Amino acid sequence: MASRIEQPVPSRKQVNTSDSNEAHDMIAGNFNNMPLLSPTLTPSQVPVSETPQVPPKVPDEVRNALPIHEKLPEVRCMARARIPTTHGPEIFLHLYENNIDNKEHLAIVFGEDVRSKSLFAKRPNDTQQDRMTRGAYVGKLFPGRVDADHDSHSKKSLKFDSDGQLIREPSTTFMNNPCLVRIHSECYTGETAWSARCDCGEQFDEAGRIMGNAGHGCIVYLRQEGRGIGLGEKLKAYNLQDLGADTVQANLILRHPADGRSFSLATAILLDLGLAEINLLTNNPDKILAVEGKNRDVKVLERVPMIPLAWRTDNGIKSKEIEGYLSTKIERMGHLLEKPLKI
Ligand SMILES: [Zn+2]
Repeated sequence: MASRIEQPVPSRKQVNTSDSNEAHDMIAGNFNNMPLLSPTLTPSQVPVSETPQVPPKVPDEVRNALPIHEKLPEVRCMARARIPTTHGPEIFLHLYENNIDNKEHLAIVFGEDVRSKSLFAKRPNDTQQDRMTRGAYVGKLFPGRVDADHDSHSKKSLKFDSDGQLIREPSTTFMNNPCLVRIHSECYTGETAWSARCDCGEQFDEAGRIMGNAGHGCIVYLRQEGRGIGLGEKLKAYNLQDLGADTVQANLILRHPADGRSFSLATAILLDLGLAEINLLTNNPDKILAVEGKNRDVKVLERVPMIPLAWRTDNGIKSKEIEGYLSTKIERMGHLLEKPLKI
């Protein structure tokens, strides 16, 4: 039953007539007794706290039985660029290609010295100009700079082994794990269209604020809109929510898993960035297991809770939709938040 991670989205052709009638009955009235086809991996009855938590130990036999990745996809960083931000700290945006889909997944990195193995490795016929253009340089770019591997301002130099792989050393490369990490799935509606149905935009901003203050961090930004169902299907789910379904029920009525996201790409991207030990910003216990995978290629040392701003300040999202959304996350998806009695 615990099958929502790495599960392919069922095709529409698989829906038979009785399923359609079932879905129709649900739309017609009763969403409440709907069985969860894709339950969470872990029970939600876990103590809640705002302080970082060491994740509970998961025995190997339990971990191995979970639908989480074993083999990692291949990823390659194509380009990295510095972006000064309106909030103050600059970020280094990394764009990745991979061998399992055609999407441009991203890593939003805080800290110039977090270095992608695949970006910095010497490539055939690589010139210093090529390396600067794709972002494989140390220190800062400035007009007239000619050497990517050596920064004459900071006097820092990158070193490479005989295979052209970057030698990671503390003077040039961030090695001070654990690093703060958030795995964020694209949400056009919440991040760009000001949606108050979900808290994705707020969580994204908050993760950036925390990492900016810390000086180092990485938001892995996966292009899996609407928990993996895509924007078109998500808009249909919004209409079902206006008809009375919650966010989980709406996905199930559309014959999608409650959560069709996959996190193995995030794991591969973190390893490429040398971030093998992380403190993960999340309320979702499944994400810890999903990013670690069966082999714990990446280890989550601490879980850092993300408490909604509206619960602890006068700011944050206030809408009747967000209350329902957060309740669903807590009650149906096992998120480790404790809803205050009064919002
Ligand atoms: Zn969202």
